[in-house]
Amino acid sequence: MNLILFGPPGSGKGTQAKYLEKRMNFRHLSTGDALREAIVNETSLGRKAKEYVEKGQLVPDSLIGSIVRAKLEEVDSGSAHFLFDGYPRNMEQVKQLGGIFSDLSLGDYRVISLEVSDEEVIRRLSGRVSCSQCGNGYNLNYKQPKRPGLCDKCGGALSRRSDDNPETIRERLKVYHLETKPLLDYFAKNGNLTRIQGESDEESVYQAIQKVMKG
Ligand code: ADP
Ligand code: ZN
Repeated sequence: MNLILFGPPGSGKGTQAKYLEKRMNFRHLSTGDALREAIVNETSLGRKAKEYVEKGQLVPDSLIGSIVRAKLEEVDSGSAHFLFDGYPRNMEQVKQLGGIFSDLSLGDYRVISLEVSDEEVIRRLSGRVSCSQCGNGYNLNYKQPKRPGLCDKCGGALSRRSDDNPETIRERLKVYHLETKPLLDYFAKNGNLTRIQGESDEESVYQAIQKVMKG
């Protein structure tokens, strides 16, 4: 069974995806990570996507579709369970995903929505930093590193995502409410949606996801 982790920016999709990848053998596919990688490597896709990501707007569906298709085709889909993080984000992408799933015979998916309030999203994203070497995450509002600006684990420099600034955070939230959140109605009607309280600690959220996956 494939899984879509759904929720606003900062709801913990990426964090939970990493746990699920490690402990449950999912293949994690984050369109946001794929876009940031393409932007850093200045690929033609990255050059096209950059301005949208920097403004906090959705990258055009056709670009997103080719990223997802390419990532899925990289692995032997017969033996893999995929975990989508940050995709689909509008109705067009839901349709696109349906097409890709049937082309690649990927079966079905289940949707888990991490419910987090706008206030909590802003609190999380405005303080979020991560290690440029090992990727470990911190939050200057409530999970500070022992030495300012440096990673506890490896001593690497901590950096902020360029779209985690107040203006872009507001835009990302706006886009979420306008274009992405309405998909919940669609998933609910299809009967494959479970909503989970996403404001508790990481381990409790993980346990809640586990319960859904087993049930
Ligand atoms: P977050 O969910 O915290 O905003 P992501 O890493 O998922 O972070 O996305 C970062 C940015 O990448 C988005 O603001 C958007 O510009 C772009 N992006 C990611 N996934 C998609 C998608 N499925 N469709 C369109 N744009 C996307
Ligand atoms: Zn580190």
